[in-house]
Amino acid sequence: MKLAILYRGPLSSCNYGCTYCPFAKHQETAAEHAHDEAALQRFVAWAAQQIQLELSVFFTPWGEALIRRRYQRAIVELANLPHVQKVAIQTNLSARLDWAEDCPKQRLGLWATYHPTQTPRERFLARCHEAIERGIPISVGVVGIHEHQAEIAALREALPKQIYLWVNAYKREVGYYSPEEIAQLTAIDPLFPINNTRHPSEGKVCATGENVISVDGDGTIRRCHFVREPIGNIYNADWQAALQPRVCANATCGCHIGYIHMPHLGLQQVFGQGMLERIPQIPIEVLG
Ligand code: SF4
Ligand code: SF4
Repeated sequence: MKLAILYRGPLSSCNYGCTYCPFAKHQETAAEHAHDEAALQRFVAWAAQQIQLELSVFFTPWGEALIRRRYQRAIVELANLPHVQKVAIQTNLSARLDWAEDCPKQRLGLWATYHPTQTPRERFLARCHEAIERGIPISVGVVGIHEHQAEIAALREALPKQIYLWVNAYKREVGYYSPEEIAQLTAIDPLFPINNTRHPSEGKVCATGENVISVDGDGTIRRCHFVREPIGNIYNADWQAALQPRVCANATCGCHIGYIHMPHLGLQQVFGQGMLERIPQIPIEVLG
């Protein structure tokens, strides 16, 4: 049985200070770091025992996890397990990447976000090129606020053509984008209109809760990051009973890591094996 787990432990800190983020420059105490490490180690040990699964793990931390050696070690350990197909992580790409040399690289995935106010474009691009040269699958993206438009265009220009550059739509303000901006951003990311939509989801089939689950540091299972109701706990003996087909109870779903799991949108065909780290398996020119 295939299962993808979106893991989000207690970590809630970041080395960057983006104005649009609650974790900006937040620091944790030594006790909080120890708590996060214990939860992570418990999760990795549990994952190692699940040899009945074809497992994928996607780290979606509150903050930046890849700068922490414990997350680098967890990725290496997971990626080397025979029953683990993919280990991906959302990151600002400020961390070292040498740990990846201890992994089968095609099992890795980097969802790398560029934050123009926090690091020079050249430095971010250098890290992208390092990932590419090391053979680590990577998607690159930016939050599509007005202030980032020039940087988004420059990043597209500088990245190799085959690297997918996604733009996360700013959806907190209705009518935020002009038609011209939508056209410009769609020329860069052909899937931008899909991200710029809060997809009606109530009553619609969604694979989360069956083939994809969200797990926190205590092992609590939720079907996704956007439905708060727990459906089980991976540390209970009968945890697999939680895995059932369900429809969505929320009115809409507006985040890539959620709506990609609604089959009627057809995005499983677009992203295939690159679903978690957001790498389309269809050439970008064909998407456009
Ligand atoms: S890099 Fe990400 S986690 Fe860190 S402050 Fe910026 S948006 Fe938040
Ligand atoms: S459609 Fe979105 S909010 Fe609803 S269950 Fe799926 S991932 Fe969660």
